[in-house]
Amino acid sequence: MSSCLFCQIVAEEIPAYRIAETERAIAFMDIFPATPGHALVIPRRHSADALEAVAEDLAACMTLAASVGRAAVSGLGADGVTFQSLARPAAGQTVFHVHIHVIPRQDGDQFVFPWPALSGDLTEIEAHAERLRGAFSND
Ligand code: 5GP
Ligand code: ZN
Repeated sequence: MSSCLFCQIVAEEIPAYRIAETERAIAFMDIFPATPGHALVIPRRHSADALEAVAEDLAACMTLAASVGRAAVSGLGADGVTFQSLARPAAGQTVFHVHIHVIPRQDGDQFVFPWPALSGDLTEIEAHAERLRGAFSND
């Protein structure tokens, strides 16, 4: 048995409330939901996080996540959807098989954004943009 929790769900070695599947990806319910209807989308193939996953799996996951989001709107009456993917412990990731959270939202709900909307220093923002542009050549 794999030591990865979500690989065990892919292999049906542990149960999950599956809601949709494609050739590359699976959607199932999060059992510690941030809001009612909170789902997770994962690729069948293991990779630790979105920094490691291949483009085809990332595309398949985002496509399925959008479908789950539309189902949350039409089926659960969500007013909006938060899509979220954490990579590495510094970002708060706890299960190291890449996944996208699909979190149904209601107008005025209690879901808390992780950062305050404060305007940044434009010189610093421009410098970070330059460093990120430069880093693409090393990708
Ligand atoms: P992360 O913190 O890595 O972004 O998200 C991991 C998610 O997996 C959490 O939202 C957590 O509630 C969920 N989770 C942890 N254990 C299980 C489990 O056994 N089954 C399901 N369906 N979700 C789980
Ligand atoms: Zn895995």
